[in-house]
Amino acid sequence: MNRIVLPGATIGVFGSGQLGRMLALAARRMGYRFHTFSPGVDTPAGQVADLEVSAEYDDLDAVRAFARGVDVVTFEFENVLNDAAAAAAEIVPVRPSGAALHVTQQRAREKGFLADRGYPVTHFANAQSLDELAIGLGVVGLPAIVKTSAFGYDGKGQHRINHIEEGERVWGLIGHQEAIIERVVDFTMEISVVAARGLDGQFAHYGAIENLHRNHILDLAIAPARVPSGLADEAVHLTRRLVDDLDYVGVLCVEFFVTGDGTLLVNEIAPRPHNSGHLTIDACVTSQFEQQVRAICGLSLGSTAQIKPAAMVNLLGDLWIDGEPDWAAALAIPGVQLHLYGKSNARVGRKMGHLTVLGDSPGEAAAKALAARDVLC
Ligand code: AMP
Repeated sequence: MNRIVLPGATIGVFGSGQLGRMLALAARRMGYRFHTFSPGVDTPAGQVADLEVSAEYDDLDAVRAFARGVDVVTFEFENVLNDAAAAAAEIVPVRPSGAALHVTQQRAREKGFLADRGYPVTHFANAQSLDELAIGLGVVGLPAIVKTSAFGYDGKGQHRINHIEEGERVWGLIGHQEAIIERVVDFTMEISVVAARGLDGQFAHYGAIENLHRNHILDLAIAPARVPSGLADEAVHLTRRLVDDLDYVGVLCVEFFVTGDGTLLVNEIAPRPHNSGHLTIDACVTSQFEQQVRAICGLSLGSTAQIKPAAMVNLLGDLWIDGEPDWAAALAIPGVQLHLYGKSNARVGRKMGHLTVLGDSPGEAAAKALAARDVLC
């Protein structure tokens, strides 16, 4: 099913959050129609789509009906059920494929895939019981981070263990679920590479992006990352190898730790556009979302040239604690681009939007982005 999907056709997406919204906006600008599928109503993506289908992912009749109404299916989060992806694939191309989804939606499987193929990763072990957790902690060494194997993102389901006695408490906290134990990496920086691979194997990337997290959630992304060019090239090289190994079609993000001696370790893979790539909307000739449209539709990939150094800050629900943020004040600063996701319920830690700022240097862009967020409240 190597069919090219041309403008005028309909793209379907599983999931309806901000990634789906920004994908829909890119797709509609290019003349595509856009349908979303998720259990929600009035969702960030549904608000800007031609059609918002509200059904559960395990309702395979609804999935098939959805697939019959579109020309290609993609997803905006990796926890889509395999059965839903397979049911859709009976009818239309699903890109990236269910196989890539299968590897990346479960941490243990993903880490195993990486380690088996010789990618650099931190020491890790798998645990399916408290006994295995204790053994794993011994093998991996302390301090360690225990992460649930399934359905984790933004640090959810993650607990740090400094002393072996904490294992039992953490095993309870994660609900006795299958887990992966990772040695804590003493990193100097986190970087990501957002890249795309086309149907014909064409490769495009946005270089290394520097990421700063707060409470395990991305807070600030800066491009280009302030790392030696050899290190950025190495991260891109590993990413290229990975998309080929996964026979990947679409946009993908690889997150890396940079250690004190300049070594790269792969942290995780996101099989979709990524929060760190949001700045490509304002800073690059082709955004990561347009790139995703091009890749899944079988078109040539677009130029990833970056116009100027850029920075993005996330706007979390925390900013709403004292009422609506002061948008007018931030927008009064020249060059500030506001992106809001249409979410009505501002909870602490919830991604509500982001700001992007371009600058003459990465540091200047970052300082301006942080200053713009500061005036919001
Ligand atoms: P993750 O959901 O695995 O990407 O984790 C979210 C964030 O937690 C990462 O971006 C890091 O800041 C931190 N983190 C996760 N795993 C490790 C680790 N093994 N060592 C140190 N920090 C980590």
